Amino acid sequence: MPEDEKGIPVRVALRCRPLVPKETGEGCQMCLSFVPGEPQVVVGNDKAFTYDYVFDPSVEQEEVFNTAVSPLVRGIFKGYNATVLAYGQTGSGKTYSMGSTYTASQEHEPSVGVIPRVIKLLFEEKQQRQDWDFVLKVSYLEIYNEDILDLLCSSRERSQISIREDPKEGIKIVGLTEKNVTCAQETVSCLEQGNNSRTVGSTAMNSQSSRSHAIFTICIDQKKKNDKNCSFHCKLHLVDLAGSERQKKTKAEGDRLKEGININRGLLCLGNVISALGDENKKGGFVPYRDSKLTRLLQDSLGGNSHTLMIACVSPADSNLEETLNTLRYADRARKIKNKPIVNVDPQAAELHQLKQQIQQLQVLLLQAHGGTLPAAI
Ligand code: ADP
Ligand code: MG
Repeated sequence: MPEDEKGIPVRVALRCRPLVPKETGEGCQMCLSFVPGEPQVVVGNDKAFTYDYVFDPSVEQEEVFNTAVSPLVRGIFKGYNATVLAYGQTGSGKTYSMGSTYTASQEHEPSVGVIPRVIKLLFEEKQQRQDWDFVLKVSYLEIYNEDILDLLCSSRERSQISIREDPKEGIKIVGLTEKNVTCAQETVSCLEQGNNSRTVGSTAMNSQSSRSHAIFTICIDQKKKNDKNCSFHCKLHLVDLAGSERQKKTKAEGDRLKEGININRGLLCLGNVISALGDENKKGGFVPYRDSKLTRLLQDSLGGNSHTLMIACVSPADSNLEETLNTLRYADRARKIKNKPIVNVDPQAAELHQLKQQIQQLQVLLLQAHGGTLPAAI
């Protein structure tokens, strides 16, 4: 990584999807605008937020990947852990962006998301390093109601899963299936297999996918062939987080309410951890990893020798304004980037300003024409 990337553990990309047909059908309007050439989004006429990257609705999967994600994959070969998290309300484009529902039949489509692209690049980069030995292992889990579910294990043989901290190897998940993979195809099959487990679960629990956090992990062991002392052990987490929407919208009770509380706990803890890591004044200070399973699992991939990208996903529709603002604020807090003042970015505001000036000029002309007294109508 270049010098300037040191000490920037978390980057935030804001991604706004296009209006979906349902929204246009309901007559929704865009409530976000974008500043050309600046990583900035403007809500309504005045509220501006700045992030490391801002992807407007026209930006395709390939550009998101090349700009924001591929540096993290390359970092793995230099010994950095990497984490990509998709955050946002249900329907904002988390799964689309992560590509978590990928099947091999989509291989050549431009809509392929982050996970399959990461897998492809990872094996391409590996191929170029013939002087290294690699061992790659994949696991795929879901956190639902603070329980960890193994998505690579058929439901019948599911064992109890627990989190341990190994002084040498860091966080270890005991009882979780880890599959050795040697090529992109095998890795993609693991993704597909895990997704099938998710779908099975969701028939029992309606929209389970949006109530759970899904973490697809690739562990990469690299050893230089002629120098046994040169080795890295890296983890790459690709996370499709549960929907961030507030429970009051879904009128949750009973089990649903419990789910909501657990989801919010995970997301709240994640926010606290990221914010503690991003705070210059708190360097070396306490980071509350232990407050949720999500942050505990991601502990050694957030902070330390790790690079993290949060893709904050939003809908541009005015009907989602409240949730969109929540996401923008959460993401803003995650990075603590100071908003830059914006100059004449909003065409409506600019036009209004111009019209006001014109009125003033006309008033002056009128005044002059009437010899200093205005007619009553003006
Ligand atoms: P989430 O996982 O956040 O609940 P999804 O990823 O399922 O949301 O997206 C909701 C809908 O929006 C899907 O139909 C998806 O195809 C569409 N969508 C999301 N992001 C984009 C995008 N960038 N371009 C086009 N369609 C998108
Ligand atoms: Mg989803």
